Amino acid sequence: MDLKKLSSFLEKEGVPPFRLKQVRDALYKSFAGSWDEVAALPAPLREKLKGEFRFRSVEPAETQVSKKGGAVKFAFGLKDGHLIETVLLNLLPEKWSLCVSTQVGCPVRCPFCATGRKGLKRNLSQEEITDQFLAAAAYLRKSSGQKINSVIFMGMGEPFYNYDSVAEAIRAMSDPERIGLGQRHISVSTAGHVPGIRRFAKDFPQCNLAVSLHASEDVLRNELVPLNRQYPLSQLAKALNDYIFSTRRRVFVEYVLLDGINNSRSQAAKLNSWLRSVAAPKYFTVNLIPYNRTGGPYKAPAKDRVKVFAGLMEEFGFEVTVRKSLGDDIAGACGQLAGK
Ligand code: SAH
Ligand code: SF4
Repeated sequence: MDLKKLSSFLEKEGVPPFRLKQVRDALYKSFAGSWDEVAALPAPLREKLKGEFRFRSVEPAETQVSKKGGAVKFAFGLKDGHLIETVLLNLLPEKWSLCVSTQVGCPVRCPFCATGRKGLKRNLSQEEITDQFLAAAAYLRKSSGQKINSVIFMGMGEPFYNYDSVAEAIRAMSDPERIGLGQRHISVSTAGHVPGIRRFAKDFPQCNLAVSLHASEDVLRNELVPLNRQYPLSQLAKALNDYIFSTRRRVFVEYVLLDGINNSRSQAAKLNSWLRSVAAPKYFTVNLIPYNRTGGPYKAPAKDRVKVFAGLMEEFGFEVTVRKSLGDDIAGACGQLAGK
């Protein structure tokens, strides 16, 4: 909901300011799902507000619960008819992480990603990003009484092509008066948008940065992450080095494993040298993501080949994690979000 508009509306109507605080608390603290659930307001005011303000800018169109457990995917309808997808992930017992979208579609068009296939439809507003959180938090509270512990900007879209709205949404999520998550519980994943990384280092040095690398040579990266043609590896290396130097934070390096394309021993060695050219291994966590099917020509490596690649990176001195493909039965795993 646009609280600025609500605030001026209430003022115009001569409603005392504590009513705004009641709406705020109902939205951000109790995760009310509709005007009817804002019980503190007198009924006539609630009725008036119903006519003037949509409670949320995103409306759940479909909710799918993974049979394998650990993931819930929401399809949300937007005012103009587009659909976006958002995924709740249960990575640790009773710890939920929410993967939010920042754009309808994505202009980067990585060939292995379902979101990129359709190109960009439009950016999401700050409100549409924050409301994904509020709607998912309301669902989780109702279904299990649990809370969302962290947010990852890893759904549909390249967050730094929509920097201002993403920044406003991070502020809403981390402001103690609103959602109140610690910035250390917020992570943004970029395909390597260099000016965005530089702004993010200044604006949110406490948040986590993840970079989708996928290749450490320009020829292959141009193909896998077409944004590399605009911001090649040399520029990305410089931006990451500056980021690490100014924030003293580690960077999460995402590396999708595509069998026969980027997972050979020599490519692991190249990844090692490229990362070392940026900073010491202690500044990185290498997060390997075995390819999730999205149609098209790619294949996930067999489990033992994933182990070999992970083992090599560990021997080179890096912390390595292999991402679980939670939600792949409901097309809710990395790269499978399509929307409309
Ligand atoms: N656009 C941003 C964030 C969203 S994608 C980015 O690219 O960083 C989140 C992660 O999923 C990225 O690392 C992305 O490269 C990866 N991904 C995309 N398609 C995938 C697929 N089919 N299988 C596995 N990972 C995929
Ligand atoms: Fe866009 Fe990320 Fe998908 Fe690439 S992987 S097309 S940047 S959403």
